[in-house]
Amino acid sequence: MNRVFLSSPAKINLYLEVVGPRSDGYTNVVLVFQSIALADRVALQNAPETTIRCQHPAVPCDETNLAYRAVQLIQELTGIQQGVQVEIEKNIPVAAGLAGGSGNGAAVLVGLNQLWELGLNAQQLAGLGAHLGSDVPFCLRGGTALGYGRGEVLASLTSPGLLPLVLAKPRTLAVSTAWAYRTFRELAESHAGGHLALFLSNLVDPRSKPLSSLLYNDLERAVLPHHPLVQRLKTHLQDRGGLGVLMSGSGPTIFALAQDLDHAHELADSLDPAEYEIFVTTTQDQGVILTGSIQEF
Ligand code: ATP
Repeated sequence: MNRVFLSSPAKINLYLEVVGPRSDGYTNVVLVFQSIALADRVALQNAPETTIRCQHPAVPCDETNLAYRAVQLIQELTGIQQGVQVEIEKNIPVAAGLAGGSGNGAAVLVGLNQLWELGLNAQQLAGLGAHLGSDVPFCLRGGTALGYGRGEVLASLTSPGLLPLVLAKPRTLAVSTAWAYRTFRELAESHAGGHLALFLSNLVDPRSKPLSSLLYNDLERAVLPHHPLVQRLKTHLQDRGGLGVLMSGSGPTIFALAQDLDHAHELADSLDPAEYEIFVTTTQDQGVILTGSIQEF
């Protein structure tokens, strides 16, 4: 086999609570991850040297790309010297709280496992993924999951079903995850915390309380005051009947759950595409998926 093709979906966080600092400098968090259908496409092809190709101007095509680091990690583990050409069709907004880069790293791990016939199991891939980044293990697993530790320790959760939603990211803004956590830590006030127990109960028994009212993200209190544009976007989607409107991860993407796809399109149409990258999509139950392979003789 010498070419493989993968779908590398984005995630949103339905819940994000900061627990506190760790001795390794990271932050302990409790998260609910959810895969969505918006996805990048990744193609891998054997090549003498590793190269990254991506048309998106904000994506680095050097060794800082998470896809490149995933190749290096596999090479170190296996001693394989040969390279791979990685082509990324970037559909997920960059530096947007949607784990686009982590997803690409996860896709390369899955793709090389297939291309180079490494025989790594899901647990081994997740272990490698945790070295690449906190969100990578979830990107490999996908669906709905509870994350804790840095977000890399996972437990599968009941899926809330296929939820239609709209995503909007201000075009002029990118938020660094490290900055968002640092800013949150600097907030002197103690935080109220979310409603994780109620949230989890609701997944099992959706009649107890609407999921939309339980969405929660601590990092909003760091990001929204610094970026009034994001606050305005959130208020706009709430005013137009978004069922649950929340910043995803460290932002600046805001998502709004909708009653149905028509409602999601209505919400999307109410936004100016010159100001925002806008997507109508749904939740999905899969992470990185191998979509095809070619054997050339
Ligand atoms: P994070 O939580 O890691 O900051 P994010 O979802 O907010 O993730 P990404 O789209 O992953 O944002 O991009 C974060 C930064 O990672 C970008 O600014 C970019 O420089 C770098 N990066 C490295 N590899 C990739 C990749 N394959 N796709 C997108 N960005 C990448």
